Amino acid sequence: MKERGHELTLGKIVKIEVSARHVHLSEPDFEILFGNGAELAFEKGLSQPGQFKAQQKVAVVGPKGSFDEVAIIGPFREKTQVEISVTDAKKLGLNPPIRGSGDLEGSERCKIVGPNGTIELGEGVIVSKRHLHLSVEDAMQMKIENGETVCVKVRTQERSLIFDDVVARVSYNFVEAMHIDTDEANAMGFSGNVFGEIMKKEREKADEHMA
Ligand SMILES: [Zn+2]
Repeated sequence: MKERGHELTLGKIVKIEVSARHVHLSEPDFEILFGNGAELAFEKGLSQPGQFKAQQKVAVVGPKGSFDEVAIIGPFREKTQVEISVTDAKKLGLNPPIRGSGDLEGSERCKIVGPNGTIELGEGVIVSKRHLHLSVEDAMQMKIENGETVCVKVRTQERSLIFDDVVARVSYNFVEAMHIDTDEANAMGFSGNVFGEIMKKEREKADEHMA
């Protein structure tokens, strides 16, 4: 058994991006909220190719509170998904699980309100599990596999820290970036452009030696 806390530093630097609360909508749900024939209007492109922030907004409602003006991220998804922080969840009176995007079975419920209608979402509210988007090329270079857990070391003015449990997500469509939520951003004193250093975990390295 190897001593804990010894991670292999790869020296690879990644930009850290903060995801504030947002929703991904299915097309049928969007039509309920905004009316038949409404279109999701592009406002701003995001770092991952094809992903964009829409001009429209919705309200997310829980038993104890609500948030107006919650961003919609396009394009449409097969299933509607609401991503909030733990702090948001407490304000809403919800208890969502920490999950990867799209893993929604048995997740939390909420109400979504648009200008044209309301949806009672039976499941789909999650706290996004922090993750690292990697292109296939970068992942190969670092010998990191899709789904592998890595650490990312972040240096800020007063709250430097090492994130553990960062799930690597590898795809030809991805541009390198680490995504955290607003609670995690506050915990690390996020301000301006922040970069982290990717560290492969010792455990995985040890497994490699045994293989
Ligand atoms: Zn992401």
